[in-house]
Amino acid sequence: MKTLEQLTRPNIWRLAPYSSARDEYSGKEAHVFLDANENPYNKPFNRYPDPLQRELKKEIAKVKRVPEENIFLGNGSDEAIDLPYRIFCRPGIDNVVAIEPTYGMYRVCADTNDVEYRPVMLDDKYQMDADKILAACDANTKLIWICSPNNPTGNNIDREQIEKVLNGFDGIVIVDEAYSDFSDQRPFRLDLAQHPNIIVLNTFSKAWGCAAIRLGMAFASKEIIALYNKVKYPYNVNMLTQQQATNALSSRKDIEDWVRLLLQERTRMMRAFLDLPICEKVYPSDANFFLAKMSDAQAIYDYLVDKGIIVRNRTRVTLCNECLRITIGTKSENTELLGALRSFK
Ligand SMILES: *Cc1c(COP(=O)(O)O)cnc(C)c1O
Repeated sequence: MKTLEQLTRPNIWRLAPYSSARDEYSGKEAHVFLDANENPYNKPFNRYPDPLQRELKKEIAKVKRVPEENIFLGNGSDEAIDLPYRIFCRPGIDNVVAIEPTYGMYRVCADTNDVEYRPVMLDDKYQMDADKILAACDANTKLIWICSPNNPTGNNIDREQIEKVLNGFDGIVIVDEAYSDFSDQRPFRLDLAQHPNIIVLNTFSKAWGCAAIRLGMAFASKEIIALYNKVKYPYNVNMLTQQQATNALSSRKDIEDWVRLLLQERTRMMRAFLDLPICEKVYPSDANFFLAKMSDAQAIYDYLVDKGIIVRNRTRVTLCNECLRITIGTKSENTELLGALRSFK
């Protein structure tokens, strides 16, 4: 691996981050806060939230088994995806490599940051060839994006291939494990110590059932986390989000129950799809959704929309011709979808 100084944009390496009123006082018990131009009325909304979300990180550290100092929290994974571009990639000079097809935000953030995006096609089983990924890199490649379980294909990427990329690349490898709660593969966040160049992404939006609160996580070395903290907006995670996330973390049993139920329903749905005459193929899934190849994805999609049922049409995505992506819903939602598909003509 190159040093972090070699990888980081020089302006970011030199950056003096914004220092808030509350950053400058530290530690001692205080009860009169006249430092931040806040309104003294309208508690508790009048006070700025903790910029480093320390209480929340303590709880996340326990549940995710990652030390607090290795955690960054952002306004959704969206923020955790965008910041590495702003930290590492010089616009118009550096590039990133990513598996293809995958989650669309990696490319959108590359484009908004004016960074070249190099997609590398998965094989016909939607698996990654580490050698192909490494061959697409050059001296200006700063980031490699791997999503596992992958969206929209649903499958885990082989762990050995990911390790080969981690060991063979001198820049940063980002492994997006947004769906790892649904998978039985060992999550990479537990192996941060072996991989100084990894950033692992998690989210509250999927298994945790909190897409509305916008909370994403990045796990990495404390040096990489320090760079994230330097560049983020000072109060990027608001107080309501921090409170609601703390509540969610204290009801872990619900989440485990949801995951179990969703996985049962996934099995039922995938079997039922295989029996549909209009379904040609169901791809294996390690997530809370699956990809199905249909006889005519567009027509079926339009038909479902007419009935008020929305699935994701992925037919125009690379390697996903005629594919619909089906999220697992409640039992009755899933049954309604199947009923509609059975009467499609
Ligand atoms: C849904 C999803 C996320 C979550 O994004 P948030 O901004 O945290 O809601 C991240 N990565 C992938 C691959 C996803 O599919």
